[in-house]
Amino acid sequence: MKSVVIASNNSHKVAEIKAALAFDGWEFHTLGDLGVSSDPVEDAETFEGNARIKAQAAHAATGLAALADDSGIVVDALGGAPGVLSARYAGVQGSDADNNTKLLNELEGVPDNLRTGRFVCALVFIDQDGTETSVQGVIEGTIGHAPQGKGGFGYDPLFFPSAYQGEKTLAEVDQDQKNAISHRGNALRALRDALARA
Ligand code: IMP
Repeated sequence: MKSVVIASNNSHKVAEIKAALAFDGWEFHTLGDLGVSSDPVEDAETFEGNARIKAQAAHAATGLAALADDSGIVVDALGGAPGVLSARYAGVQGSDADNNTKLLNELEGVPDNLRTGRFVCALVFIDQDGTETSVQGVIEGTIGHAPQGKGGFGYDPLFFPSAYQGEKTLAEVDQDQKNAISHRGNALRALRDALARA
């Protein structure tokens, strides 16, 4: 058996990772399952850098192969903001609704053709021997003018994927439909392919 620790306690992400990387002989644990606490400061300037910080910390704390992700939304008209600060855009205690309100305020007056952006997900896998594999997935789209839809989380109600030609947000599709086109789904497929080749 190959044991892999997932450096996240988000149950949705953990389920998605387990499904995408269901290789024979692999078993997954979370830091919580192992009774290990690892909460490094995520102070890198890139998604990949923050994912690496989390993966290295989990690898060091457990001695196991470790997988970490970092994700967020990048908005062109805001010079790439909120970027790595997506979770804390409206402040450390900010809710998803607060973050969405701030994003809409920052984009006030920006016309539709300039409201482009993307979700980005970086994944860093560190094997038990320290070998690193890193990949990134994106989903392109535009930012709307008001929240639309009740599904998903975070900025989903404001994000119109290009794949849907601006007709619906990521909060208006089910989880499987989202995974099929999302930044995290794309990153996990890239990681699965890279690890299968290794
Ligand atoms: P983290 O990688 O879980 O820390 O996510 C960072 C932040 O990016 C989240 O708190 C959300 O605000 C945003 N984000 C990341 N992925 C998604 C997504 O799939 N939908 C909506 N928001 C997301």
